[in-house]
Amino acid sequence: MASAESTTEDEPEAETAVETARRQLEHAATHLDVSDGVIERLRQATSVYKVTIPLERDDGTTEVFTGYRAHHDNVRGPYKGGIRYHPDVSEEECVGLSMWMTWKCAVMGIPFGGGKGGVVVDPKELSKGEKERLTRRFAQELRPVIGPMTDIPAPDMGTDPQTMAWFMDAYSMQEGETQPGIVTGKPPVIGGSYGREEAPGRSVGIIAREAIDYYGWAVEETTVAVQGFGSVGANAARYLDDLGATVVAVSDVDGAIYDPHGLDTNDVEDHDETPGMVSGYDAPETLSNDDLLELDVDILIPAAIGNVLTAENAHDVQADMIIEGANGPTTSTADQIFEERGIPVIPDFLANAGGVTVSYFEWLQDINRRAWSLERVNDELETEMLGAWEAICTEQEARDISWRDAAYVVALRRIAEAHEARGLWP
Ligand code: GLU
Repeated sequence: MASAESTTEDEPEAETAVETARRQLEHAATHLDVSDGVIERLRQATSVYKVTIPLERDDGTTEVFTGYRAHHDNVRGPYKGGIRYHPDVSEEECVGLSMWMTWKCAVMGIPFGGGKGGVVVDPKELSKGEKERLTRRFAQELRPVIGPMTDIPAPDMGTDPQTMAWFMDAYSMQEGETQPGIVTGKPPVIGGSYGREEAPGRSVGIIAREAIDYYGWAVEETTVAVQGFGSVGANAARYLDDLGATVVAVSDVDGAIYDPHGLDTNDVEDHDETPGMVSGYDAPETLSNDDLLELDVDILIPAAIGNVLTAENAHDVQADMIIEGANGPTTSTADQIFEERGIPVIPDFLANAGGVTVSYFEWLQDINRRAWSLERVNDELETEMLGAWEAICTEQEARDISWRDAAYVVALRRIAEAHEARGLWP
């Protein structure tokens, strides 16, 4: 029987996030002169915390949920990364996602390492009160391993600014002082940053704009399909629509809407605003989420969940370029197929890095107790995204490697140099 490490195109894949992340790391490491010891260390998380979270349900019964927080690497600064509420959360997923956070912060040059956490729960099955109690207790269980200078959580799938507000309040109450810097992605009224919610989608849009320019396309003639019309997908779609691109399809978990002449993305309510409104929108055609991935468009943006582009459908993808909005939407086999087919894939840890970049701005604002204007946030985000894009373009051209490998080269070099400079203790 073939092991997971030797999956071929003919076999169905069962690839976990950590497997994908490790394969990508090993592949990218071949392009760089980094010591085996550093790579071996980066294949593993520093630690993974597992906690149990008892929750009193609204009917008076008690249910116990499992939560995790993975710390991957903090050589460049505090662990940083989101908290996910989803039934598929697992230790492996948190480790894989925390690895991507390490690369994401390094590629952006922001002084954080990689962390990720989550609770194995379907948030749709929780009332607002239950979600609040679960969040407060999770914050309390994680308190020994997080802190504004050690590990700073943020929103991710199934969590939002309100979740961060409860988390920050629970932590602050226990600490005896208001500590806004314990999480990012909070509402601006309690130290959140303007522009943080839109930032991951906005950065996907900025990178798409730069990639369109790089390949000499005209934005007005570019067609786009976006899987997932939540905070990342909707903001990316609207950004590109506003630039003049034609967004022909968007989807939510129930299905996709399609208009070959272009949808008015500002008229479609996003999944977070009103669940069900995307697939319920009055559009000329509806499609399945699988069909959306195979549309003949210039740019495909998978912005929903991980592992949607696989060995099964990679040969049928007709897009000329893929820009990853979700974390880990492409399995390693699919990635190989796209490389062979000459379809550029711009990686998640660059494209959606606007989220953690504005999280960094938020953390700075919290330390200084001084808010930045939306204009300043967006200007600085633009500058940071362009800086990262240029560094990656330079590597991609100099080495003739994929966009993903080029982004890894930039990130790994910074991380390896930091490890080398600091050395091992004791
Ligand atoms: N969850 C987001 C991500 O995957 C944001 C992390 C953060 O802002 O810390 O990038």
